[in-house]
Amino acid sequence: MIKQAVILAGGMGTRLQEITEKMPKGFLEIDGIPIIEQSIRKLINCGIEEIIIGTGHCSDWYDNLVKKYPIIKTVKNENYHNTSSMGTLEVCASLIENEFILLESDLIYDEIGLKVLINDARENVILASGKTYSSDEVYLDFDESNILTNVSKNVDKINNPNTELVGITKISKDILNQMVRLYNENLDKYKKIDYENVLQILAKNNPIYVHKVNHYVWAEIDDKRMFERAVNEIYPHILENEELYKIKREVLLNPGPSTTKDSVKYAQVCADICPRELEFGDLMDNIEKDLTSFGANCKEYTTIMFASSGTGADEAMISSCVPPKGKLLVVDNGSYGSRLAQIAKTYNIDTTIFKSSTYEPIDIEALEHEFQSENYDAFAIVHHETTTGLLNPVEIICPIAKKYGIITIVDAISSYGGMPMNFKEMGIDFASCTSNKHFGGMAGIGFVICNREELYKQKKWPMRNYYFNLYDQYKYFIETKQSRFTPPVQTFYALRQAIIETKVETIEKRFERFTECWNILIDAVKEIGLEMIVNEENQSHFITAILNPNVPKYDFDEFHDYMKSFGFTIYPGKLGNIGTFRIANMGDITYDEIIMFTKLLKKYMNKIGV
Ligand SMILES: *Cc1c(COP(=O)(O)O)cnc(C)c1O
Repeated sequence: MIKQAVILAGGMGTRLQEITEKMPKGFLEIDGIPIIEQSIRKLINCGIEEIIIGTGHCSDWYDNLVKKYPIIKTVKNENYHNTSSMGTLEVCASLIENEFILLESDLIYDEIGLKVLINDARENVILASGKTYSSDEVYLDFDESNILTNVSKNVDKINNPNTELVGITKISKDILNQMVRLYNENLDKYKKIDYENVLQILAKNNPIYVHKVNHYVWAEIDDKRMFERAVNEIYPHILENEELYKIKREVLLNPGPSTTKDSVKYAQVCADICPRELEFGDLMDNIEKDLTSFGANCKEYTTIMFASSGTGADEAMISSCVPPKGKLLVVDNGSYGSRLAQIAKTYNIDTTIFKSSTYEPIDIEALEHEFQSENYDAFAIVHHETTTGLLNPVEIICPIAKKYGIITIVDAISSYGGMPMNFKEMGIDFASCTSNKHFGGMAGIGFVICNREELYKQKKWPMRNYYFNLYDQYKYFIETKQSRFTPPVQTFYALRQAIIETKVETIEKRFERFTECWNILIDAVKEIGLEMIVNEENQSHFITAILNPNVPKYDFDEFHDYMKSFGFTIYPGKLGNIGTFRIANMGDITYDEIIMFTKLLKKYMNKIGV
């Protein structure tokens, strides 16, 4: 699995002097977006977790990019005046952990080229195209086994000038080490050498392959003419190709699963692997740490994953975390709280229900009174009641429960990943969540974030459950780096991509996006004259429960079908006696989409006489 990419961006772009005197070439814009950012987005789409940019000329431009993309690291080649691309690669080398994709900063290209290299079974592979007639070509010769034999800018030195270096290459750690060694041992001779020429030297003793895609769409930008060619000929062609792999967009405004990015959908299309292979164990291990890190320190908390829906994670948590013969108190202020209680009862757990209004805040004093009145061992509550959009103040309630020595169990399925949370500060011992909803992965993985100290206590408890036993699942993975039972392999790859997307956006910015979408929605709701069931100040910003309009023409199914015809899926309410419908804004939703939705909402409500 390739996790890193290195972009060589040290050059001065002397042939574009008037433009690149004060700006690196990567910041040339096409369609209003710097070409470096177009490249970064493509790398992210292909599952690259970390991008190292080797800078030089005007390095501060790249340093500023780190603020926008937290997955970027920059390293400056201080000697960029006197060295070339190999000099810049050399300064990046210590940050490279494993095989990686190497790119030049002045490229525009079709994303498929990255996938070609990622899916190539061979280790060191140079992406090549047929003839571009672009000027400044670097030609490649290769033998009948596709092994590189020659690299040259001089057509006369090439046997068959029909193959061109693109500037995107897959390199192993071993070859990188050899490149760096060769370079450093011959600094005088190779001071201004380019990386492709170093590869050529190494190719004498190591198989360096050329993967040629005859009609690959790409351009390098070295001078004005090449820039014009990139803008007028190549870029439109890249866009046209992108259009071909777009998946039909459906905006899900239902309370999960939520809309996913195409990059997440495509992440499932990958090589088969037996999940007992170490590589898959590493993938699960990394996912576990990432899922924990969004809300806690990995030394204090750990995440345990199951192939299940969110309710499976709830069941694992409830059936594992109440001590033998223990007493459980459950807050029920919506259908998910009620479900937690139902699960507990199914396992014959001694359960008391604390009923609270489905749309008004919990009476915390009364709840504290309940904590005092009985010897409860565990307490369970839903953080965000997706039934109504009511956000329960678990950060106030759980620390109170902890004060009485009670284990705290929180269903955070529709909150974690969507808003900043710190489990320790919030007094949460166990929290359930899923791969979909806020994390934006495919549905199918339920997980529980566990306070390690509390989890380890379960070691001695007799198992009340089997598949969903938290400690057993944890122990087996720690000992073997394997899942006890078959994990949903492709769903894990999608979750990995969803986590990368989450790191790129950050949870803080995601919460801002959801809040802004919610604002747009509730402004429209108020303008239309519809009523929400929960007061604004108690809402989560993730879902809005709206009272059915009081007009005879209103029919949810018809309303649903109308919205569906425009690509929006809406959802009925879930409150027994009060008629509502719900609009969620979770997942990969954009401002433009929610604005479009509110326009349609106004139109529809107007049509039925609201
Ligand atoms: C969605 C949701 C669940 C259930 O998730 P499933 O994946 O449908 O099992 C549980 N609790 C809350 C708060 C939810 O929003």
